[in-house]
Amino acid sequence: MKRRDFLKNSLRAGAGVLAGAVVAPDDAEARPNLEPKEGAVGMLYDSTLCVGCKACVAMCKEVNGMPPVTISEIDAWDEARDLSGDTLNVIKIYKDGAGKTKDAEVNGFAFEKRSCMHCVDPGCVSVCPVTALTQHPITGIVSYNADACIGCRNCMVGCPYNVPQFQYDKTFGQINKCQMCNQKGVERIDNGMMTGCAEACPTGATLFGTRDALLAEAKRRMELKPGETYNYPRGDVSKPDSYHEKTVPAYKQHIWGEKEAGGTNVMHISSISFDKLGMPPLEERSAASVAEGVQHSLYNYLALPAVALAGLSFVVKRNADKAKDQKGERS
Ligand code: SF4
Ligand code: SF4
Ligand code: SF4
Repeated sequence: MKRRDFLKNSLRAGAGVLAGAVVAPDDAEARPNLEPKEGAVGMLYDSTLCVGCKACVAMCKEVNGMPPVTISEIDAWDEARDLSGDTLNVIKIYKDGAGKTKDAEVNGFAFEKRSCMHCVDPGCVSVCPVTALTQHPITGIVSYNADACIGCRNCMVGCPYNVPQFQYDKTFGQINKCQMCNQKGVERIDNGMMTGCAEACPTGATLFGTRDALLAEAKRRMELKPGETYNYPRGDVSKPDSYHEKTVPAYKQHIWGEKEAGGTNVMHISSISFDKLGMPPLEERSAASVAEGVQHSLYNYLALPAVALAGLSFVVKRNADKAKDQKGERS
């Protein structure tokens, strides 16, 4: 390593840390986005097919042994409005103006599913210091191990979709998130089944399958002309339980999860733009690849101790100066 390169990268990385910003030095390029696994499984959620029945929410609770969430005094219905320690899947609503027309951005309404996106390059896995979150090397499913978790909640910050939820109401709370119905004691995917939410969905709005097959299906729908009819599959995209014919809506030409932050194994399509459906603004580069690149660079150039020392010295000197100022000692 040349002395000049060491200094250049150390200073560049150090400046980023001291400024409180994430600056990617040259070596950040050494860590590109992870690629989708060859055998990755996932889901395609088509908002235009969703009727808001919440059968997927009820099935998710049943499969995962979670209690209903009630807000009103009538304890007759699960009323979960967002993900929580007791809710791994929720259906939200978009509404504009009079909210009369389904799948219309203006004066319309639409549904949107929220559950783990099973990122191709998951931020939650990247930031977990004890590998309590892991990604399966074949299926790409992102799983959680409560026994390994130390409760630091880094994963809640590392996830761009605000998915991991802590059980604040429990004495020994743990993180909860969708594990694609394949955690210990459930294992639907390992047993050749589809996810509970896809099985329960009456319209095929939530479709299960391999990422490749789901992406191909999503691309097929992007090519359809609004007003023509299409036979929508239900259940597993590669071996559907049934089909149903429906008029094709005016899809936004955007498959959410094809590329965002390295892509996701759960993808969404819709006739409403995704910013209106509450999806976060994401670049194609994953935060995990940038953060791990910077981290690698800092350690590679032995810059972290120098940066930490410089930062600490700065803070100590500033405090000492303030103390002297207060005492009127500084010249
Ligand atoms: S959506 Fe969040 S919790 Fe799920 S895999 Fe991605 S980063 Fe992890
Ligand atoms: S895959 Fe399973 S855990 Fe995840 S949202 Fe669907 S039913 Fe719930
Ligand atoms: S089961 Fe299907 S149609 Fe019903 S709310 Fe869930 S995704 Fe929508």
